[in-house]
Amino acid sequence: MKFVDAHIHLSDGEYSQKVGEIVEDAKRSNVVALVSNSMDLETSLLSLRLAEEYPDHVYAALGIHPWNVRNLSPNELQDTVNLIFQHEERREKVVAVGEIGLDFQYARNGKLQDVQLQVFHEMLSTAENVSLPVIIHSRGTTSQIMSLLPSYGVKKVLLHWFSRPIGLLSQIVDRGYYITEGPPSLFSNGIREIIRRIPLTNLLTETDGPVRFRGPFKGKMTTPSFIPSVVEAIAQLKGKKETEVADQIFQNFTNFFEVRGVRDKRHEERTIGV
Ligand SMILES: [Zn+2]
Repeated sequence: MKFVDAHIHLSDGEYSQKVGEIVEDAKRSNVVALVSNSMDLETSLLSLRLAEEYPDHVYAALGIHPWNVRNLSPNELQDTVNLIFQHEERREKVVAVGEIGLDFQYARNGKLQDVQLQVFHEMLSTAENVSLPVIIHSRGTTSQIMSLLPSYGVKKVLLHWFSRPIGLLSQIVDRGYYITEGPPSLFSNGIREIIRRIPLTNLLTETDGPVRFRGPFKGKMTTPSFIPSVVEAIAQLKGKKETEVADQIFQNFTNFFEVRGVRDKRHEERTIGV
């Protein structure tokens, strides 16, 4: 079985000295691909560096997170947009624009809402221009984001850690969007209900590390080695075999991110197997 972590923050300070260790740990757990999501220009540059350093394992998503709009330096938005454009042809490294989105709990009583909206608009326009998928943070803003998205030509959309409103799931599926779920699949009733309802073809796995979790993960540093137990939980909820779930999620990953390296390796294995 092969697993994927479609949403982790390898560029986070908490991982700074440990990325090599985490990649090794991922390999031992058969987590064959990690998408390093970014928060701002600095972490975008770092995600890119990690994608170069671990070419068969780490892929970069570049962008500005809604939490970070309050700390943007004067040219940071433009420089991040330029960085994405500069890597337009390097699809083996840069696989998405993310993590982007809206989160008005972090908008200082509304003062930063307009800035978040402006940054989100720029990120979506950039993704549209370079035809990259987007990875979206939509805490408390999913309905608004769902109504904004059709104005952009972004075809591939992933709503990370989707938790509510559950009523939007059918629209998410109808539009061919994906969601990611992670360790809460083992202990959160809300997330478990979402997994029961979402077709497996629209689901990907994530850790969102270094975010820490409760349940069986309490007190542990979050690493991609959590993914096999997430897949096990999904398989139980779906009443399917773990291998079937892992294969489908792996296929979703290669379809969504169009990661050539991973796909080629899969092809080689199939050829050898024949
Ligand atoms: Zn995240």
